[in-house]
Formats: sequence, structure tokens, C-alpha cells
Amino acid sequence: MQIPNYSKLWRSEHPTTKEEQIMIDFSLTLEQRMLQSKARNFALRDIKPIVQIIEESDNPEIEPWDFCQSIFRKGAELGFTSLLLPTKYGGLGGKCIDIVLVLEELGAADVSIACSYFNLTAAMSLFVTRAGTSEQQERILSHVRSGEPHLFSAAESEPNVATSDLFCPIPDANIGIKTFAQRDGDAYVLNGKKSSLVTNAGIADAYFIIARTALDKPLGESMSIFYVPANTPGLKFGERTQMIGWKPSHHAPIHLDNVRIPAKNLLGQEGEAAKLLMLLPEVAIGLAASYVGLARAAYEYALDYAKKRVSWGRPIIEHQAVALKLADMMINTQAARLTVWEAANTADTNPQLAAMVKAPAAKTFAVDVAIKNAQTAVEILGGYGVTKESQAGKFLNDAFIGYSCDFTREVLRLGLVNCL
Ligand SMILES: Cc1cc2nc3c(=O)[nH]c(=O)nc-3n(C[C@H](O)[C@H](O)[C@H](O)COP(=O)(O)OP(=O)(O)OC[C@H]3O[C@@H](n4cnc5c(N)ncnc54)[C@H](O)[C@@H]3O)c2cc1C
Repeated sequence: MQIPNYSKLWRSEHPTTKEEQIMIDFSLTLEQRMLQSKARNFALRDIKPIVQIIEESDNPEIEPWDFCQSIFRKGAELGFTSLLLPTKYGGLGGKCIDIVLVLEELGAADVSIACSYFNLTAAMSLFVTRAGTSEQQERILSHVRSGEPHLFSAAESEPNVATSDLFCPIPDANIGIKTFAQRDGDAYVLNGKKSSLVTNAGIADAYFIIARTALDKPLGESMSIFYVPANTPGLKFGERTQMIGWKPSHHAPIHLDNVRIPAKNLLGQEGEAAKLLMLLPEVAIGLAASYVGLARAAYEYALDYAKKRVSWGRPIIEHQAVALKLADMMINTQAARLTVWEAANTADTNPQLAAMVKAPAAKTFAVDVAIKNAQTAVEILGGYGVTKESQAGKFLNDAFIGYSCDFTREVLRLGLVNCL
């Protein structure tokens, strides 16, 4: 079955050549190395100790945001949430590769903090500069210049609806999300429910909510995206969702009960959400970079253990069966990193190619490598690997969450193959 080719929507306005620009210089500039080391220090000093507290407490009653808010503020002060924004908004005017360098470091400390708080906020801020009018850009991003960081959340998935329907080719208006935005004079009134997996739901300062503006048209033509500040009446949140990993992040369902917002909070035109989200390969590339961080951390953790653990009178790294596993972990991490770097370079040079092919490829591959490395780490640590004392189990649980976060491995590859 053919899946919808959203690239057609894009191509009309963004003609592209089939040529692909290839980054042949892999060396980082001095500024990039400084940024990388700033992110690494921040990850080690500020993120890791907090993650340890959250993981060790193992208490579902704990609200991770109580611990992570200070991390988010400090990271925002360091420029990690405004890195990609043009300087006219108070951003650093960085390139996609810059945020990739940062997110690998943060992801090595904790992939959920990298993805939920930093990648999502940085990417949605960038989204506003791409999809918003100049009035919307000034208004929604004014906090950046004033130095008051805003945490963002984006909600498309809904309970009892397969999120993969977003990629469904069947032109049946009954398929897909049901949250509806009714135009009422100079306002929209939103009603519906968003799934329990929405990242930052209940703790964010503002939400980008996808709703239908027509229920008689197929999903691809009827989804619209709205900016909804957290304090809007009728915006309600359910209990925090418990997950197998990603303990430091916060996910919850959203209930939209006659949420009235000004019409000027519609980003782009009605029915344009699918097309506009194609403008944002940085979300998947940022996730991929964070998962390269996890893959690296799992490798380094297993390497350290293999150098210390002794069997048959020698460190287990000296047994080839273990050494070859470590070699594969290193090789796969490097391959994933280069795939992500290349996707980041493409995001800056050929955004359409990045959105349609390189970003989903990078995300799929980086998560695969993270899962494989986490599994190998559990193996190398032997029995200790399955205890809560070791970090290997955390790597594995966190890695598996990448499988379906921001679309599953299946639908990403089906979307990609349609563009080949
Ligand atoms: C950590 C995390 C954070 C998230 N954050 C957000 C968020 O901030 N906002 C938000 O809106 N959502 C969020 N989600 C939801 C996420 O986008 C969806 O869970 C994801 O897209 C998968 O959709 P689903 O769970 O509905 O699975 P389904 O679409 O129901 O799919 C179920 C299974 O069937 C397979 N499948 C479905 N259709 C096909 C097909 N046509 N061909 C082959 N296989 C198919 C899928 O690959 C999957 O294995 C998050 C999820 C996670 C895990």
C-alpha cells in the first residue's frame, strides 16, 4: 500500500534538486568544540546527579519536573533551547550540527532529559520562526530575549487512535485524530483529548496542539496547529504516565474542554499542519543525536566494566568474545553519529531531503544502535547487568522507548521508502 506523499505538498513551494550535498569536512570548529565541552560539563555536573536521585528513589510519586526544572533553566541560560533561533530573537543562530553536538552530550547523561526538555523546546521554538507570522514570532518567542525560558509541548496523538494514522494514505475522513477546532468569530474553540504520552503535558508553559479544522476531509488536509498557552481556561491534564524508562521526564494526557484561543494562534493556514511539520526535520535529528549519546554511554559503561571485571585470571576485555562485542558497540556508535551529522548537515542545506529521508533514517538507525548497545551492555555485565545497581537496565529501558517516540520504526521507514 502506498503511504501519503507529503513531499508533494512541500515540493510546490520548495523546488529541490535530486542532488545531495555531502559534508566532507568532519572537523569541528573551535566554537563547536567549546559548545560540546560546555554541554558535556553541564551533563556531568548538573544532569547526572539529579538523574541518579530520581532513578534511585524509584518512587512513582516523585514529580521529576521538581528536580529537572533547575536543569532546564540552567541549560536554557547556556543557550541550549535557543541555539537554533536567529539572533534577532535572542537566539544563538546555530546550525543543526550545533544542537546535535549538545544533544549527544545531554543524551549520554540522560536521554529523556535531552529529548523532552531540550530537543522538544529547541525544535518547537525553531518551528515558530519557520511557520509563524512575524507577529507570532515576536509574541511567542518574546521570552527568549527576556531570559525567561519557556518549556514547550507538542500534542498530536490521541487515545484510541493509532498515531500511525498520520501516515495513512486512505482518503477517508473517519481515519485519524478527532480533536476539533471550531472557528467562532475571531477565535477557535478546541475540544478533544490527547494521549497519555504527550511529553511535558501539565508542566509546559505553552502547547502546540494539532486539531482537525474539518471533519469531512482526510487527515492530511484537515489538521491544523494551534499555539495554546498553559493558562488557557479549559486546558486540563491527567495524571503523570508511568513508563518503563525515561524516569526524569513527564508525560500526561490532555483534555481540551472548550479551550478558546484567539484565531491569531493558528500557525500557518487551516489544514496545513502536515505540511508545516515537514518543515521540522530537526525534531527527529535531535532525538537521533540524543540516542547516539545513549549508545555511547552504554558502550563506555560496558568498556569500563570489562576492563575491571576479572575472569579466568584476566580482565574480561581480554577474552575475545567480550572484546569483539565492545568493538561492535564502538563501530555502531560511530556509524550512528556520522549518520546523524550527515542528516544535520542536510537539514541546513536541503531541508526537504532531510525531512523526508535523512532525519527518519538517522532516528531509526540511532535508536537501533542504542537498543543494541544497551542489550550488549546488559550481556557484558553478566548478572550484575540485570540488577538495579547497574545502569545497564536503565540504558535498555530508555533505549526501547526510542522505538515509538516520535513515530515508530515501521512508519518512519514506510514514509522514507515512499520518497526513494
Ligand atoms: C516517550 C514518548 C514520548 C512521546 N511524546 C509525544 C508527544 O510529545 N506528543 C504526542 O502527540 N505524542 C507523543 N508520543 C506518542 C507517539 O508519537 C506514538 O506513541 C507513536 O507515534 C506510536 O503511535 P501509537 O502508540 O499510536 O502506535 P500505533 O500507531 O497504534 O502502532 C502500533 C504498532 O503498529 C505498527 N503499525 C501501525 N501502523 C502500521 C502500518 N501501517 N504498517 C506497519 N506497521 C504499523 C506500529 O509500528 C506499532 O508497532 C510519545 C511516545 C513516547 C513513547
